[in-house]
Amino acid sequence: MKHLLQSLPQIHQLLQDEEFKDLQKEILKPIIQELIQSLRQQINNQEIHSLCLNTLKSQIKHLYTQRTSSTIAPLINATGVVLQTNLGRSLFSEEILQEVLPLLQTYNNLEYDITKGKRSERYIHISHLLCTLLGCEDAIVVNNNASAVLLVLNTFGANQEVIISRGELVEIGGAFRIPEVMKLSNSKLIEVGTTNKTHLKDYEEAISPQTALLMKAHQSNFRQIGFCSSVEFEELTKLATKHNIIDYYDLGSGYMKGLQTKEEPSILEICSKNPSLLSFSGDKLFGGPQAGVIVGKKHLIDKLKKNHLLRALRVDKFTILTLEATLRAYLNQEFHKIPTLSMLNLTQEELLSKAKKLHSLLDTIPNLKCQISPVDSLAGGGSLPQTPFHSYAVLLHSPLFKTSSLETQLRQKRIITRIISEQICLDLRCLFEKDFELIAKTLKEIVCKTS
Ligand SMILES: *Cc1c(COP(=O)(O)O)cnc(C)c1O
Repeated sequence: MKHLLQSLPQIHQLLQDEEFKDLQKEILKPIIQELIQSLRQQINNQEIHSLCLNTLKSQIKHLYTQRTSSTIAPLINATGVVLQTNLGRSLFSEEILQEVLPLLQTYNNLEYDITKGKRSERYIHISHLLCTLLGCEDAIVVNNNASAVLLVLNTFGANQEVIISRGELVEIGGAFRIPEVMKLSNSKLIEVGTTNKTHLKDYEEAISPQTALLMKAHQSNFRQIGFCSSVEFEELTKLATKHNIIDYYDLGSGYMKGLQTKEEPSILEICSKNPSLLSFSGDKLFGGPQAGVIVGKKHLIDKLKKNHLLRALRVDKFTILTLEATLRAYLNQEFHKIPTLSMLNLTQEELLSKAKKLHSLLDTIPNLKCQISPVDSLAGGGSLPQTPFHSYAVLLHSPLFKTSSLETQLRQKRIITRIISEQICLDLRCLFEKDFELIAKTLKEIVCKTS
């Protein structure tokens, strides 16, 4: 054991080794220290009885590569779920990126009034577009919709009361819970109604001199069916106006336009009822960057701008630019520039034709059984859980593997799928034709290496 310990290479010798001459010493040193330390421990515990310098060197190189390479990489989304927080939510189109790229590589007037030679506001670049699109008085944008809720509640509800229905005190993905955000904002939560039913009179009876806000929160993908009822936001707006308080709707995944669904009204339709404040996520159905967009009455947005919390929730130029470009795409009805909409609007014919192309590539692979099948995809991101997005998929299985093992192997090659009745489902909705060859090649490698 003593002999083995003595034969451990010196750290400074390894650092100077010819094989590592091109590597950065500051990154290399802690790696070598770590590995030598672990070897020493293994020798002391009598877990190893010999040393191999070459193995150690290749371990060092392996760790070096691991620590200096990117951990984020492209994935192929074959799940059919368009908006997945885990997979990065909304995508940007080539067109939108080409519009913003030159502005990211140069100085610009993000917060500068060229005529006056004075500081201006970064929010004006998006507020005039939102006002044109939605007919609202003003708008502001923060980091995400969770920030938007926090800012609104803290600005208007701090040390006062906020009334909300018990049926809307939901938790959504990423542990966003309305009651917790209320606490953080220092506002007092006043729950009204019951889990399944809340009526307008429940709100009205709870209004007191301390009431600042009537709030509605979208239930996201939580749905109540059967004996249940809630109050339309429009009714809350009227009630708030009557009592001279503020109505606020945390809409979550609102959609602007260009989408066929009867499940809920668009942001535009909600805005036409003249609400005090409304906020929604930028990277859900809206299809833009991560952001929390707040629209509504000008005197209220002005108050939000005066809250120092806004400085901490401030968005950068990338968000402003991509949001602005997305809003212009909406204004000009250029929906093809918004991949989230394009994917959700794919027709049955388009999906079937894509399925046939993928199927013809996969059908030639030995040991793979595949067939085209109609499936339902989801919007995701907590949006429109009851709107079926009819799609087509290639379903496949292999006699060589259990389907769960095939799913794992595909996932490790960065192809994310789901399993439907013991078959791998490749839903065509979020697949790009440019990826078909790679999918075929990967599947071929998996089934041919074993046979
Ligand atoms: C998604 C969602 C949020 C949080 O929005 P982020 O943009 O993810 O911060 C808040 N409220 C509702 C109702 C949501 O659906």
